[in-house]
Amino acid sequence: MTSNAILATEAPSAMSIRHPNPDAAAEFADDNAPHPSTDVLKDDRRWNAVIARNPVYDGQFVFGVSSTGIYCRPSCPARRPRRENVQFFLIPEQAERAGYRACLRCKPKSAIAHPQSDGVKQICRYIEQHLDEPITLDCLGKEFKQSPFHLQRRFKALLGITPREYADSCRLRLLKRNLQAGNNVTRAMYDAGYGSSSRLYERTASQLGMTPDKYRRGAIAAAIRYTCADSPLGRMIIAATERGVCAIHFASSDGELLEGLKREFPFAVRKLDNGGLQSWVGAVLQQMHGREGDLSLPLDIRATAFQRRVWTHLQSIPFGATQSYGEVAKAIGQPRASRAVARACATNRIAVAIPCHRVVRGDGGKGGYRWGTERKKALLEMEQRGL
Ligand SMILES: [Zn+2]
Repeated sequence: MTSNAILATEAPSAMSIRHPNPDAAAEFADDNAPHPSTDVLKDDRRWNAVIARNPVYDGQFVFGVSSTGIYCRPSCPARRPRRENVQFFLIPEQAERAGYRACLRCKPKSAIAHPQSDGVKQICRYIEQHLDEPITLDCLGKEFKQSPFHLQRRFKALLGITPREYADSCRLRLLKRNLQAGNNVTRAMYDAGYGSSSRLYERTASQLGMTPDKYRRGAIAAAIRYTCADSPLGRMIIAATERGVCAIHFASSDGELLEGLKREFPFAVRKLDNGGLQSWVGAVLQQMHGREGDLSLPLDIRATAFQRRVWTHLQSIPFGATQSYGEVAKAIGQPRASRAVARACATNRIAVAIPCHRVVRGDGGKGGYRWGTERKKALLEMEQRGL
């Protein structure tokens, strides 16, 4: 299991949570081609590059696979998907905005692209990390040492939307996730970076197509399937929504696991599903046993902007390696936030797939672990043996 990047699905409405979201993808009409057949031709060429795993095309486009929710670079060694499940994007940010997660096997985000899209990617990163601040063109211009006018033009040429619209879409995505988690509206808005602005609230209502509270009520009765299994760290529960894995926990008994799940998702309809989740159980066990598998594990994550930033970074820490809380804080651009990083690790719901066990104390100590330090130690040892 290598691809468990954080899911960024933008659900069109509470009642029809789809994955990934073709509407959002459609906003990025490729190359501004006015005639659809031109696009088809280009897509055919891209598809050929995918079939050939042609590395020359790495960085020029990525492809999303709707059956897994994962996007890859053309040369990805993974099994080829069926053509009808494939969608093409110029840059990773487009794929993510359409609800796809980066494949951890081929790491499409680190493919070297043409310099123009690189610059835009950096702007996207910056926006994602500053959702809780008003992001103006002027401040972006200063940050990236360009005229605001040119910055916006370049951004829009590539992504089809302005930086402000991009920030809006990131906030909205987070808000939906937080509302679906059953958080109250004020909390969910705040965590998504909206602050307390009533103007933003109104705009949000129109973007959601309903008031946030109504959205929340429709979303919280989501169905969660779960299964329990033996693991090297004791009993394990894996729970999933229709969008992906939403919890992996460890405990000494199934009763304890179920109690925990209920606490975590009090509004959800929980249903035992041993058969349906078997392959994910296998993938997680394989990784725990020190074998870095290649199965993609879709994740459904509800988080604050900060948690998301930390958790996404954790997924880039290589198998078997560790980083200190301080290093993680620095890596996400908030060098003074090590304690907040530790808190984000401690509140991770998805053990192993979001590898919070790879974050340790700066002085060489193992540091805490939500499921017990002993389990953290065992997990790290298994990974290091597997290398
Ligand atoms: Zn891949």
